[in-house]
Amino acid sequence: MLVVMKAQASPEEIQAVCKHIEQLGFRAHPLPGAQRTAIGITGNQGEVDRGNLEELSGVAEVIRVSKAYKLASRDVKEEDTIIRFAGTDAAIGDRSLAIIAGPCSVESREQAFSIAEQVAASGAQFFRGGAYKPRTSPYAFQGLGLDALKILSEIREKFGLRIVTEAIDSQSLELVAEWADVIQIGARNMQNFSLLKHAGRLRKPVMIKRGLSATLEEFLMAAEYVMSEGNYQVILCERGVRTFADHARNTLDLSIIPAVRRLSHLPILVDPSHATGKRDSVLPMARAAVASGADGILVEVHDHPEMALSDGPQSIYPIQFARMMDELEQIAPVVARTLPRGISAEAAK
Ligand code: PEP
Ligand code: MN
Repeated sequence: MLVVMKAQASPEEIQAVCKHIEQLGFRAHPLPGAQRTAIGITGNQGEVDRGNLEELSGVAEVIRVSKAYKLASRDVKEEDTIIRFAGTDAAIGDRSLAIIAGPCSVESREQAFSIAEQVAASGAQFFRGGAYKPRTSPYAFQGLGLDALKILSEIREKFGLRIVTEAIDSQSLELVAEWADVIQIGARNMQNFSLLKHAGRLRKPVMIKRGLSATLEEFLMAAEYVMSEGNYQVILCERGVRTFADHARNTLDLSIIPAVRRLSHLPILVDPSHATGKRDSVLPMARAAVASGADGILVEVHDHPEMALSDGPQSIYPIQFARMMDELEQIAPVVARTLPRGISAEAAK
């Protein structure tokens, strides 16, 4: 159920409607838009009696939302969600492309700093690097944990880059929320509902990667889990799905971009690295992703990929990343986008 407030409704009227909804035993989610505020109602098993709600001061109408996902739906919020980062000009979901670059894993201070310096020089605004790694083999490198988070935070201080890193369980989630700017929920955890709910109780942006064989609805329902707990700063990331095709690690499903845009107001990024698993395929798929309307790219970059402790074969060299930035900058205006270069001066200390 959705309560649409009148354009001229006052903050007090909005608050009174939220209070009324909570008194009925439901949860109210005020979602301000450019024209008017909508208030999503969740927690109801069946129909909410709309009679009383329509009588409340400032209410324009009460609408039933028929889709399984509600807060993630464009029916509830028409305008695109834009995630901003305090003290910087970086944003995800506006007309600027968000570029998140860095190694699969933080392997050492030297490795992470060297790559960060190079991606910052090419104009990336966000840095990625795994501290907690979800690996297929328990014997493979599992990440440096808290030490990696500390290194990432030093990178933010030095280069002004905003930090994106994965949480794999509740314990790492608390730490990632404390040290990073965006919490990544990996493909393997896209349907870890308790982890999603936990992330929903935090107040940090959450980037959810599409599950290995997740449908669009399942993907949006993962976002809904986070939003249902009151955290509306959710970013989606397409990273390829499993198919019969074996020429690539996964099959990049670019057709999900217009589908997400139609159904949801949430930003959608594309990860051409995990989608292809092959260095040579990363640039062509990044070009295609931007041309298809992605809000940005998440890409793995390593200066010695042959020595990488994870995902070396799909990691591009810093020089290839520089070329990617130049090419994406040229494609951007064709799709009414811009590619910002670097983080604003006042932000980068
Ligand atoms: C990653 O980003 O390094 C990662 C493990 O991604 P995914 O969850 O998409 O496999
Ligand atoms: Mn990786």
